Amino acid sequence: MEIKRGVAVSPGVAIGPAWVLDTEEVRIGERFIAPGTYPEEIERFDRAVRSAAGEARQVQKTVSERLGEQYGAIFGAHAALIEDPSLRQEVAAQIRDQGFTAEYALSRVIRRRAKLLAGLNDRILADRQSDLFDIEKRLLRQLVGQRQQQLQKLSQPTILLAHDLTPSETAQLDRRQVLAFATEAGGRTSHTAIVANALGIPAVVGLGPFLTDVSGGDLVIVDGNRGVLILDPDAETLEHYRQAQQAQAGHERELVELRDLPAVTRDGVRIFLLGNIEFPEEAAQILERGADGVGLYRTEFLYLGRKEDPTEQEHFQAYLQVLRQLPSKPIVIRTLDIGADKFSSVTEPLAQERNPFLGVRSLRLCLHNKNLFRVQLRAILRASAYGDIRIMFPMVSTLAELREAKLLLYDVMEELSEEQVPFNQRIPVGTMIEVPSAALMADQLAREVDFFSIGTNDLIQYVLAADRTNENVAYLYNASDPAVLRLIDQVVRAAERARIPVNVCGEMSAEPMYAYFLVGIGLRQLSASPHAIPEIKRLVRSITAEDARRAAQAVLQMETAQDITSYLRDQLRRILPEALAV
Ligand code: PEP
Ligand code: MG
Repeated sequence: MEIKRGVAVSPGVAIGPAWVLDTEEVRIGERFIAPGTYPEEIERFDRAVRSAAGEARQVQKTVSERLGEQYGAIFGAHAALIEDPSLRQEVAAQIRDQGFTAEYALSRVIRRRAKLLAGLNDRILADRQSDLFDIEKRLLRQLVGQRQQQLQKLSQPTILLAHDLTPSETAQLDRRQVLAFATEAGGRTSHTAIVANALGIPAVVGLGPFLTDVSGGDLVIVDGNRGVLILDPDAETLEHYRQAQQAQAGHERELVELRDLPAVTRDGVRIFLLGNIEFPEEAAQILERGADGVGLYRTEFLYLGRKEDPTEQEHFQAYLQVLRQLPSKPIVIRTLDIGADKFSSVTEPLAQERNPFLGVRSLRLCLHNKNLFRVQLRAILRASAYGDIRIMFPMVSTLAELREAKLLLYDVMEELSEEQVPFNQRIPVGTMIEVPSAALMADQLAREVDFFSIGTNDLIQYVLAADRTNENVAYLYNASDPAVLRLIDQVVRAAERARIPVNVCGEMSAEPMYAYFLVGIGLRQLSASPHAIPEIKRLVRSITAEDARRAAQAVLQMETAQDITSYLRDQLRRILPEALAV
């Protein structure tokens, strides 16, 4: 048995036979053309470009219908890459000057471009390599004339193992046949990860080399909850996962029944469970999973796979789309949080930053680029005329920054009033608390906003100086760290003193043992990805706020993350043993 650890990007557990995707799906035969035949060869390449671009646009259409336009846009961008005149120019030059075949010239040009991206040593750009390989495959299939639709030819449920999966391959996976997938490459921010999550296929990426250790048909386990791939599991492990799978299936059925019940503790304390979404299409999940509204709408995903910034109208339409699905629920729209580990054409000029997590990301970027910011603020305000829209600023580090953002918001409000455009004049304005300086200044910040939302994903990394995307410091990046928990507690106290609501929208809210702690320190709102909501609701309905308070007080006295984790796990085992089963 071999256990590989990677990055969990889509939850769930699957057991099944491996299907290893051939890394050299399309083989290039000839490398050289006959002398003097280059015009025909270039023409052949041009034909392939036309067909491949048409095919990518077709995928865009299908994926848009199936998953929504934001996903489809990825393939629109692929079509544009295929038609990129500079690609054509480079390939044509190699055909003409070196006498290469179109296939070989293309492959060389793509590989050189991919290498350039890899050389920039930037995780985000490295992820973009998969887009390049995707378009290479598409073009090669046209040129070689092998329309190998291997992925669609699956005849039995399997676990797909590959070096990497391109976004289009992922989007076309048939979720009835592909039980899960695991890849050697890939990162948390890749399009592939995002699409896997939207499809609900358990997935683990970034596992490092493992394909040489496995053959097609071998039994494997993918644990998308923990980011683990198990090759050739022993009988005991297999039995453990089989039982866990069964328990989970039963457990999920029960969870669905909770949908229409409120999240109330046994001693009558109502906890508002909100969902985090990235795409408007996910709003439906909020209802399906019985959430009370949207606690965090990560609007930067509107910028995904695009060359141009979204227009005010596009922002507005996206917000209305969410509103239409959740007409009477609160929707917290977070302003653009781009930069650092999130990608876009907007951030391209920042690719050279030495320390992007400490650089011009998020609100800083918006305040540096006020025109960009105004477009979004106008759209959010316009949408506020139609429902319970709230606005939230991310990555606030100082009071001055918050004031600057609010001033701009007021300025945009004035502009809309002059134009007689309707909006909610009393739109609630909140700030995220995800930088230690903001947490320490929470008393002051609380006087100037209507609500707080604690972004623990970032707060943990900044408190402990441990990059949230770096697997080498993952042992430090720990939600159980006492410094983190004390700081969260201080923020909650500050919010209470100022009598403003406070929410936690980081991943901690999605983990039952931390949710227990958070309720214990007084949180009455938790926001998590929709799939985590039923489990958290079940937890809330199984506890008393008073027991949670006592447990949280005990935790706040503890000295190490290990002590805290084992204490909270013990508590959880007592309250909700099935939550720890998988
Ligand atoms: C956070 O930092 O906790 C958060 C919710 O924001 P994101 O994960 O988008 O940075
Ligand atoms: Mg954050």
